[in-house]
Parts: sequence; C-alpha cells; structure tokens
Amino acid sequence: MSLVERDLKVIWHPYTQMKTALPPIPIVKGEGACLFDGEGKKYIDAVSSWWVNIHGHSHPYIAQKVAEQLSKLEHVIFAGFTHEGAVELAERLLAILPGNQQKAFYSDNGSTAVEVAVKMCLQYWYNQGKSRTKILALKNAYHGDTFGAMAVSGRSAFTTPFDSMLFEVEFIDLPTIDNIENLKSQISNLKSQLACFIFEPLIQGSGGMLMYEAEYLNELMLHCHNEGVLLIADEVFTGFGRTGKPFACDHVTEQPDIMCFSKGLTGGTMALGLTTCTQQIFDAFLSDDRLKTLFHGHSFTANPIACSAALASLDLFLDPSTSANLKRIEAAHQQFALKVKHHPKLKTIRQTGTILAMEWQTGTDTSYFSSLRDKLYQYFLDAGIILRPLGNVIYILPPYCITNEELNYIYSKIEHALEEI
Ligand SMILES: *Cc1c(COP(=O)(O)O)cnc(C)c1O
Repeated sequence: MSLVERDLKVIWHPYTQMKTALPPIPIVKGEGACLFDGEGKKYIDAVSSWWVNIHGHSHPYIAQKVAEQLSKLEHVIFAGFTHEGAVELAERLLAILPGNQQKAFYSDNGSTAVEVAVKMCLQYWYNQGKSRTKILALKNAYHGDTFGAMAVSGRSAFTTPFDSMLFEVEFIDLPTIDNIENLKSQISNLKSQLACFIFEPLIQGSGGMLMYEAEYLNELMLHCHNEGVLLIADEVFTGFGRTGKPFACDHVTEQPDIMCFSKGLTGGTMALGLTTCTQQIFDAFLSDDRLKTLFHGHSFTANPIACSAALASLDLFLDPSTSANLKRIEAAHQQFALKVKHHPKLKTIRQTGTILAMEWQTGTDTSYFSSLRDKLYQYFLDAGIILRPLGNVIYILPPYCITNEELNYIYSKIEHALEEI
C-alpha cells in the first residue's frame, strides 16, 4: 500500500473531510522555502506551512540546537521545577516586547496561549471581587479551535455546531476613520461589564487576511484603557516579523496588557505557546490564598526541546540578515502589487509587511466562487507552489529566506492564473 492509501485508511486530517477532497501529498523533505514529495517534485511553501515557518525548513542551526538539547534534557515537569531554556527564552523575549510585558506563562500552542490570556483577564477581575465578565472581540476574528478560543472568535461555519455552547462575546467592526467614534461609544456603554478586548493586531489572518490601520487600532486600545478594559494582543500569527516589524504591536504606541505567541515562536519547528503579561496582571494572582492561583498547566508546558528551537529561531531572527529579508520581501510584494492592482479579475490587493493578499472577483455566481478556490489551489500545486486560498483570497506569506527567484516565479504564476482562471 502506498503512503497515501495507508493515510486515507487511518488519518482524519483537519479541514479536509469533504468527499471531494484531494488525497494528501506525502512530503519527505524540506529545505529553505521548499518542500519535496516522494517523487522529488518540489513545492515552494508560499504559506510557510500554515504560517509557522520563518527561517526555512529543516534549518541546520535550529536542527543543531535541538539535537544538542535532546541529549541533555528532553522534558521536565514545569510546576515546581524549571530549566535554563525556559528562563533564557522568557528573558530574551521580554527584552524585545513592549516595555510593560514583565512575566511569561508557557503553554504548548496558539489556542492554549489564547485560553491562558482569556483566563488571566477573567480571573484578574474575579480575584479582585469585581464582576467584569464580558469579552469584547472583533468580527471575523480567529483565535484558535479550542472552546474558549473559539468563543472569542467570530461566529462562522467553523463554529456553527457549537454556537449555543460558546460564552457570550460582544463583537465590533474593524476600526476605521468612519466608525471609530461609534465604536468608542459602544465600548463606553459596556465598560463596567467588559473584562477585556482581544484582537489580532493589524491583520485578521484566518478571517481572510483582513487588514486595518494601526492608527485606529491605537485609538481603540487607548480608549479601552481609559475605560479600564484590559487588552489582549493575539500575536500568534503576526509575531516575529510578519508585519515588517518584530511584532505588530510595534506599529502602535499604546501597549497591550497581555500578548499571545506561537506559530513563528520556534521558527515553525515545534509546538510551543507563550502568553506574556504586565506586572499588574501578575500581582492580582500573587497571594497566600490558593484560590487566587491561575490553575492552568499542560503536560508539555515549556518543553525544553521546543524552548531550544525557539532560542535558536530567536538568534536567527535577531541577525541583521533577517530584517534585510523582511525589507526585501516587503519591497518585492509592493512592486508586484503595483503591477497587477488594476487587473479586472482582482477585487482588491492589500499588503502588510511580508503578507500580500489578493481578493479575486467572484461576480454573482456563487457556484463559481466555491469552485474558484479549488481551481486556484490546484493550479498553483501543479505549478509547484503551495498557495492555499482562503475562499477567494490568495495570499503569499513566505519564509523570510525565500529567494528573489522563487518570489518572481510565484508572481509570474499568479499573473498566468489571472489570465487563465
Ligand atoms: C493560528 C492562530 C491561533 C491558533 O494557534 P494554534 O497553534 O493553531 O492553536 C490563534 N490566534 C491566531 C491569530 C492564529 O492565527
């Protein structure tokens, strides 16, 4: 039996159970921005393997650091014990985050980093005997697939079977010049009930690469703080250079109370989650009363192997060649966007840092719309490019090591697709 046949027999993959779904492609090797299948066919990973990879696949430096760690300490309980990697990673990250971030809480993926953040906020008020229990979030938000993370995400086809079991959340529109005053008064009306405002800064990834301006985000953040509402910046996707700066919150002046990280944290090597917070949040839990504890711990919290991958990834991230790559990709995207922005098949084209998103025209024919996504996906796979559209939105979000030749090849295939599909 081939690997694909064996896979189809025993594996339940996320998002691909439709009877019409294509069989999975077996990948045997990764190098730089590319993946290779069993027959040696090369794919450019233009979506960074679900947005996690930042320095390229099987990076030798990360591999070396992980291998060294494996023979020293693979794992240790992270309650009552600690280890060098967890401490060093927290020290080095807190030093480059907004200045108010003082404590790091580990977990093991992006959804759990969000769960921890939401629990921190709710219990922050609970511990002080204040009943602020409502959460404010943005429409079309995505914060993960576990129940709490799903509850603070926009309601969609992904959540429908569970909607009646998700706790109540107030959803507001993305802030713009036109609605910002209106949003501020909505917040003021709810303020005494609001525990926190959770948001994906500057760009909503899963929502369809929806972008909004730092200026209005900043105004919203400032207003929340004036009303005593805590701020959670979910940087699971935007962290580590995606938006052109190290963190999306580097584009605003107001500082969030809590930040969530995963995806690029380990360079895309391993699962690791991190939630950071201010001293003020931490102090609301520091007590002689056991009931004030944040009872949340996963078996693989702060796994030493994952921490070693994150430390190695951080070394690479802080190397000047990475910021040069961010600028190079940003400039290349800009040039390509200028070239195709008036194409009649494109509804909009938008960019934030290393992320370029193109919304395809769908017209009024919705059957065309649903088949368009599959056609585009297959077209690029045949061309040796992994571009996994979100509905009618194609986006390029490459590992930062992608070469100019690889980028130009992707752009040229997109131009072909604009003519042919
Ligand atoms: C992917 C994502 C998550 C969830 O992370 P997982 O590791 O997939 O659980 C949370 N928030 C944002 C903004 C994301 O893009």
